[in-house]
Amino acid sequence: MPSIRILPESLRNIIAAGEVVERPASVVKELIENSIDADSENIEIEISYGGKRLIRIADDGIGMDREDAMLSIERYATSKISKIEDLINLRTLGFRGEALSSIASVSKMTVETGRREESTGTYIEIHGGVIKSIKDSPVKGTVITVKDLFYNVPARKKFMKSEQTELNHIIESIIHQALSHYRVGFRLRIDGGEFMLLPQAYHERERIAQIFGADFINGIEEFEKREGEISIKGFISKPDRSRRTRTNQYLFINHRPVKDPIVSKAIYTALEGYLEKERHPFYVIYLDIPPEYVDFNVHPSKKEVRFRDNNLIYEAVYSTIRENYLSEKISTFSHGINYRDVELKIMAQDLSLSETPVTFSNIENIPVPSVRDIKRHEFIFIADTYIGFSEPDGFVVMDQHAAHERILYERFLKRRIQTTILLFPVEIRLSPQEYRNILDNLEILREYGFEVDDFGDNSVIVRQIPDIFDKDDIPSLLKDIAYTINNAEIDKESDIYDKKRMEVAVAIACHRSVRKGTRLSPDEAHSLLERLYETDDPWHCPHGRPTMIKFDIPYLEKLFKRRK
Ligand code: ADP
Ligand code: MG
Repeated sequence: MPSIRILPESLRNIIAAGEVVERPASVVKELIENSIDADSENIEIEISYGGKRLIRIADDGIGMDREDAMLSIERYATSKISKIEDLINLRTLGFRGEALSSIASVSKMTVETGRREESTGTYIEIHGGVIKSIKDSPVKGTVITVKDLFYNVPARKKFMKSEQTELNHIIESIIHQALSHYRVGFRLRIDGGEFMLLPQAYHERERIAQIFGADFINGIEEFEKREGEISIKGFISKPDRSRRTRTNQYLFINHRPVKDPIVSKAIYTALEGYLEKERHPFYVIYLDIPPEYVDFNVHPSKKEVRFRDNNLIYEAVYSTIRENYLSEKISTFSHGINYRDVELKIMAQDLSLSETPVTFSNIENIPVPSVRDIKRHEFIFIADTYIGFSEPDGFVVMDQHAAHERILYERFLKRRIQTTILLFPVEIRLSPQEYRNILDNLEILREYGFEVDDFGDNSVIVRQIPDIFDKDDIPSLLKDIAYTINNAEIDKESDIYDKKRMEVAVAIACHRSVRKGTRLSPDEAHSLLERLYETDDPWHCPHGRPTMIKFDIPYLEKLFKRRK
């Protein structure tokens, strides 16, 4: 008796589905791609229970006749390629002919579809890959409904995450599609309520504003360049709008959302000098290259690509950004507050400490102040950023922003906050994700002195704020907090609340203290130092960077080569 057998068709499809349909968001992605390939102008998406119960995508595209509709749910059934050369010259998002058959095999799916010029369309119902019924339907365009995903694959079903997490993935996937196809209108309904409405746009910029709000657009540098056969359109955050996390980094190659380490490296290298350490730009980059330069058939869900010539792509992205990003504004960084290595070098020279620049790389060797009793110091103010003062056994330099961050961080964490009630509450429009993250964490915000209420339609209304803020700070602060919450790396269920509380305190402290390059008065400097010494960890800002560096006598002697 042979022990090897050929798997039956039904099982083959379920196994194949494992690659294409990882989670509800993959279904949404595949179906939207199909709608876009079918020349749809408007796509409506409906989701219930994080897509676990229901995903419905309706489009006004070309539709299918009955014969095509029947074929579309077969494996390797595609209208998009027919020969090997087509694979090299892809012009459509789909081509593998696996999505509908895969989805059909792991859910209860209906396909309702009809071509505009035909009087009747088709309705097909399939459960776990088995056709249950075929009828006429009045539909023009295509409506695909996917219910009870993975109902017949318990192992997969178990691996789905919480409704909220799956929903976040779905929204992120729709945002990707919407950014790459701005001419297509999108409408998203979640659990019966309207969540996002993106009318057909005329420019990428308009679509970006629809999704992230007008304020987002104001913080962006925009440029466009054609180099040989490669064209690049870029929207990159200005240096002062950088973030603590890598959120909102979107790359599209030939209208396909992808992640690519080469392009990402080119972007970060090009931005060197504009970005503070551990800060990240947000960007939307559109790369259009001849289809034969890039292979999308690397990954079943086409998230990764392979370039024919990595250097060509790297160079094109790097040089476009280098030449166009803040090209005439390079001075922002020569007296910038954020470029710490450079600053420290300048400072060391200013103070004639040595010819060898002191950089953060040798910070480990520099002892921090040990003096606890604060005396009245003579302060030296350096570049409106650092404050120098002498101690009996050396010279100390304090980074006023880092110090302030530490103080504020602990104040929020320990809830030592005064609040201001706004006479005129501020209404703030957020992106759908930001909106959700803020609403889900009103409790933490309340602890920190914010009174925020749901105002519907992705808007919130802010009635009370901590008194250290101005009401003009609030929109960008709320956005910062939303992203922080979204990206907090949480290990254990029980840590969630505490971890978020800490992250939000960091975001608040950072937001309030980083912005200003103000010259402090000696009294203010004294009070800053005093309050810094009262904190639990005066030597580090909440990000772990030093707040003070001490050049003690032995260290100075070493610098001046008086001793080894
Ligand atoms: P692929 O997109 O790789 O061709 P799919 O399984 O996603 O494979 O779809 C199979 C075929 O079904 C497509 O090639 C297309 O002809 C047809 N199809 C799927 N969705 C739609 C739609 N929304 N409108 C019109 N045709 C569609
Ligand atoms: Mg497809």
